[in-house]
Amino acid sequence: MQIEDAVRPEKRKCALTQEEKIRRKKRKRKRKLIRIAAIGMTIALSFALIAGIIALVFFVSGRTGRQSRIQTVLSEEIQTLKDGRKGKWQDFYAAELAMPALDVELLTINEFSRPGIALPEVKNIFIHYTANAGTTALQNRSYFESLAETHERSASAHFIIGCDGGVVQCIPTGEIAYAVMKRNYDSVSIECCYEREDGQFTDRTYQSLIELTAWLLHKYELAPEDVLRHYDEGGKICPKYYVENEAAWEQFLADLSEYMEQRAGMFMDL
Ligand SMILES: [Zn+2]
Repeated sequence: MQIEDAVRPEKRKCALTQEEKIRRKKRKRKRKLIRIAAIGMTIALSFALIAGIIALVFFVSGRTGRQSRIQTVLSEEIQTLKDGRKGKWQDFYAAELAMPALDVELLTINEFSRPGIALPEVKNIFIHYTANAGTTALQNRSYFESLAETHERSASAHFIIGCDGGVVQCIPTGEIAYAVMKRNYDSVSIECCYEREDGQFTDRTYQSLIELTAWLLHKYELAPEDVLRHYDEGGKICPKYYVENEAAWEQFLADLSEYMEQRAGMFMDL
């Protein structure tokens, strides 16, 4: 028994070792497999990640490229439009255009109608009516001048056209007038006298207005679309007839364009 006992454990040990060896082998194989699987998965994931990053980079750069291409095309189109609009009037700008006859009766410099502040730029020409039927250009000029004393309100315009077609200049074009709230620093204003209660200008006023406006568009290289009613900036019913009769305003712009085309053509032929 003793011997057996002494041998058995030896045998068992041997047997266990065999089993253990097999188990270890199995475990080893399992670990190896797991390692291989892990490495495989890591490699696959890395590839997927790299592919994802590359795809993202392509997508983003493609988008940015597209956006910048769109922006370039848009800005080119805007420029073309601008050039086209200006281009249409190049002959007119190039033409020698005489200054219309002006009665220069400048206001004295004062806080209420001629502040003497430099006008930095001109983007639009604004058309007004005096809102005082039957008054003359000089009477309206006197009203602007009187504001220096009365301090009643701030008001003025660069030019006033009378019902007889005569033009009175109150303020040099290099200075601001108090004519269009918020736009006094980038526009020139023309007041028009009228006789009819509905505010329609006389033929003489209308003709002088076309000539004076065209001369200003020529001076500042602007287009007929840059001529606005006081109404277009702030909604004041001014000039009344041309606010209440949209077609009459469209007609004025058409007549102005025609006059400009004629001037351009006339000098082209010379
Ligand atoms: Zn006005």
